[in-house]
Amino acid sequence: MAHSGPHALLPPGTPGAALTDTAWVEVLAAVDKTYSELVAYQEELETRNAELDAMRRFMASVFASVSDLILVVDRDFRIEEASGSVAALLGADKLGTPVSALVTEADWPMVEAALRQACDQRRPTSIEAAFRSTDGETPIDLSIAPRIGDRGRTRGAVLTGRPLAELRRAYSKLADSHQQLKEAQTHLVRNEKLASLGRLLAGVAHELNNPISFVYANTHAMEKSARKLEQYFEAVQAGASRDELIALRESLRLDREMGNLRMALEGARDGAERVRDIVEDLRRLSADGTGEMAPFDLVTTAQAAVNWVRRGSKRDVRIVTSGLPEVIAVGRKGHIQQVLMNLFQNAIDAVEGVAAPEIGIEIGTVAREAFVRVTDNGPGVPPALAATIFDPFFTTKEVGKGTGLGLSISHKIAEEHGGSLTLDDACEGASFTLTLPAPEPRP
Ligand code: ADP
Repeated sequence: MAHSGPHALLPPGTPGAALTDTAWVEVLAAVDKTYSELVAYQEELETRNAELDAMRRFMASVFASVSDLILVVDRDFRIEEASGSVAALLGADKLGTPVSALVTEADWPMVEAALRQACDQRRPTSIEAAFRSTDGETPIDLSIAPRIGDRGRTRGAVLTGRPLAELRRAYSKLADSHQQLKEAQTHLVRNEKLASLGRLLAGVAHELNNPISFVYANTHAMEKSARKLEQYFEAVQAGASRDELIALRESLRLDREMGNLRMALEGARDGAERVRDIVEDLRRLSADGTGEMAPFDLVTTAQAAVNWVRRGSKRDVRIVTSGLPEVIAVGRKGHIQQVLMNLFQNAIDAVEGVAAPEIGIEIGTVAREAFVRVTDNGPGVPPALAATIFDPFFTTKEVGKGTGLGLSISHKIAEEHGGSLTLDDACEGASFTLTLPAPEPRP
């Protein structure tokens, strides 16, 4: 340094001052530096202030427009900050007032305890408390959380809440639409049931018509034979001679008539038996709809299902069955028959426009499961729809023909049984596989 003596920093002209020029230059440079530092500091302060201001405005706008109630309180539970919604609903948000002024007398002890818990133990809580509002009391669903300051100390608490009436209104709206949806669903399920009932009845009517007309025609033939026999017996009773009776027997061709009578009787019995079988099938279908899970033969159930669907179908479709002669599965037979009828009906619908329609049914077992695979040579299911076809109400069929519930109900039934219903990858047409649990092997 170029300072000389103890008075080096005194201004020139001061008695005793002996300041050199270099020293002055240094002093001026130091002042300059301090000044520019001050300017930079001031600039930084202004930027910070602007940032702080923007942040405050941002916070204020959030506080003003948030619909939930937000209250920030200090350690003495005095309001430090409140959202606009507080003033709108409760008519008071005076900063600095104790939050107890907002709560009803009855509920304050509970809120106070929750606030203490938040501040002292730093444990957030949720409670329902009544607040004094402009129109009396408003129950509020309240969450209280501790507010931690910079140095990790508890500075107070933050209360957020929503009027329960609003929540209840929203909930009841939700419940209403849920109820409506349920009603619509029940209605559609009923429609689906009616539709399958309609198909079933058409099948029953068609199928019963055949054997009944058979029985009817045969009883006609029996009546004719009975008349001839009556004629013969009348002659016997009138005391006709043996020769006369032989002649009458020949003229009435009674020997042939006896043969006809036997045939007519057999025919009528066959017809009646077929009617009995149909009724038996029907009884089984309705009686086994619910009840306990029990072992049953999938092959006969599938056969019954095929018969039903065939009865209702106008076209003759070739059905190729393969697999084992008997496959025991565990479940509710009636439900499974319904699932299979639905798969067969879908297959029959799918091959409607096909020149040589063919449906394949394979029944067997894999691992510890029984399965039925239903395939058809229809157009198949486009990959984009593979997941959608199991959705309730999804249908590509015309109005009145499909309800779109068949596969979704069938899928649900399969799952209830602990089995599955899947659409398989097929090179031609569509292929669905139903799996069901097989009975436990005997030890
Ligand atoms: P629905 O038969 O009333 O339409 P489903 O739930 O049984 O209701 O079937 C839904 C849809 O899945 C059908 O409309 C059809 O588009 C498709 N689908 C079902 N089975 C087949 C199949 N075998 N081949 C092609 N598409 C099928």
